[in-house]
Amino acid sequence: MNIVLLGIQGSGKGTLVQDLSKHLDFLLVSVGSLLRDEIATGSKLGQLIKSKMDKGELVDTNIVMDTINKKLSNNKKPIVILDGFPRSREQADELDKICNVDLAIYLNLKKEDALKRIMNRLTCSKCGNITTRVKCPDLVCPVCNGKLTVRSDDTPEVANKRFEQYRLETEPLIKRYRESGVLVEIDASKTPNEVLKAVMKVIK
Ligand code: ADP
Repeated sequence: MNIVLLGIQGSGKGTLVQDLSKHLDFLLVSVGSLLRDEIATGSKLGQLIKSKMDKGELVDTNIVMDTINKKLSNNKKPIVILDGFPRSREQADELDKICNVDLAIYLNLKKEDALKRIMNRLTCSKCGNITTRVKCPDLVCPVCNGKLTVRSDDTPEVANKRFEQYRLETEPLIKRYRESGVLVEIDASKTPNEVLKAVMKVIK
């Protein structure tokens, strides 16, 4: 079963997969995290990725496809969750070439609420855990004691660029998946636990 997660930046896709992993066995393909892993290696490719990310632009589809194909090769898990992919018509066409989309979960959240969440978001530099300034004002990760940091693309300017990219390129995919009968819309303004429950019900 192949599931794609759609939703504006800050709608809770990362938090949802973090929570889902406690209840469900699946292969997670989180494109943003995979790209950040490449940046962390300090490679030339990583530098190229970082320059795009820091401007709030999409990374080239061929780079993204290589990353995804690497992650999918040798997969033995029956459920695959794609987080942050596809983000454009071009990417959705590429995905159709390699697998079926059985379910598209659309986390629906207003842009204003998404911006508030992004400005409050902290990510652990060691284990990738996502949390908030409100929950962890001391900047210590409750999972691994690592240092919580603000993602370099979580500034108001870059967030607004990413929202625009989402509106122009990713939002049309909602219609595409609705028309193909695989889209389920979830109210992402609810608490993480409520969103988790709604999604678990759909998957089951
Ligand atoms: P968010 O959902 O908040 O944008 P992600 O971690 O999913 O966070 O993505 C961060 C950045 O990584 C994006 O702004 C973009 O530069 C890059 N990226 C992630 N997914 C893709 C993708 N499918 N195609 C191209 N670039 C991507």
